[in-house]
Amino acid sequence: MMWEVDESTDLWADTPAARGSHGEGERFVTGELISDDLDVERSLRPQRLDDYCGQEHIKQSLKILIEAAQTRGESLDHVIFSGPPGLGKTTLAAVVANEMGAQIKTTSGPAIARTGDLAAILTNLQPGDVLFIDEIHRLNRQVEEILYPAMEDFSLDIVIGKGPAARSIRLDIPHFTLVGATTRSGMLTGPLRDRFGISFRLDYYGIEDLADIVCRSASILSVDIDRESAKEIASRSRGTPRLANRLLKRVRDYAQVRGGGSIDLAIAQEAMAFFEIDELGLDWMDIRILEMLCKTFRGRAVGLSTLASATGEDANTLEDVYEPYLLQCGLIVRTPQGRMATPVAFEHLGLETIAL
Ligand code: ADP
Repeated sequence: MMWEVDESTDLWADTPAARGSHGEGERFVTGELISDDLDVERSLRPQRLDDYCGQEHIKQSLKILIEAAQTRGESLDHVIFSGPPGLGKTTLAAVVANEMGAQIKTTSGPAIARTGDLAAILTNLQPGDVLFIDEIHRLNRQVEEILYPAMEDFSLDIVIGKGPAARSIRLDIPHFTLVGATTRSGMLTGPLRDRFGISFRLDYYGIEDLADIVCRSASILSVDIDRESAKEIASRSRGTPRLANRLLKRVRDYAQVRGGGSIDLAIAQEAMAFFEIDELGLDWMDIRILEMLCKTFRGRAVGLSTLASATGEDANTLEDVYEPYLLQCGLIVRTPQGRMATPVAFEHLGLETIAL
């Protein structure tokens, strides 16, 4: 039965990036996994808590919880990690397993289609195993219901037969730790959320933490880089480690062909200008949206569908893929009348703010 999901296929099969957000293949500045990442994704993944950069509060809490569980000789309570793609949820799941000295089995919500699939997964677990379910909010309801007794009592209710003769038997399963990851914590059902004893929300990373990640990855990839250049890459990475690594690889390639191989500030800036990633990590489509709002609509509020036709982009993609980061940077705001560029956007484009 297929349940050890290869992350190079299923996990990113249905992402906006994988679908290609503007008909030209994958979007480079997305936090989702894209084909660019596949060659080094595994080698760059930290294995232990001490290699994991940033998210200090989560790390310290996990250290305590893991040590306490180990001292009691128990498996760790079930854990859920939530937050945007590329921030390190999958990495943390593997780190938890390594720190517990446990095996990890990996699957994802959409990959478990039937209750029987989950039952097979659960009955194959060894005591202490970590079961990692990515995109856990996408489990279907029947499958999710099988998880409740498994998480709570480490048991599995199986119905044998059909109709009046049907009877239910309860099987014991080994004590395991369920680690769930979700980009949409709001879509988790109450009963599932309540069954996780430990819950962490990952936040976007600051520049120094991202620069640590860039330096760590550079050393694994045997690329020579100074701290200043690492910070330059970090500041264009939209708070996202996966993007920081991806940018590093592009800059490395550029440095190899156009420079002497090592990365300094000038070559880093030149490379990112070449790949059209600006100082805030915006790509050409982000800029196009801002230009529409600032120049064409002269700073007025614009409805989503109007903006969609003006930019030639699908409204859902605008809302799900482009808007979150523009909102987070304070470049646009949402008003009841529609989306509006802020003075920060005008300044970023080097334009005079228009008084409405
Ligand atoms: P998510 O599951 O949240 O989408 P991943 O755990 O797959 O994100 O992380 C994407 C990549 O970013 C990993 O391959 C890893 O190399 C890198 N990464 C993420 N978080 C960290 C971190 N805290 N320290 C170092 N590298 C990280």
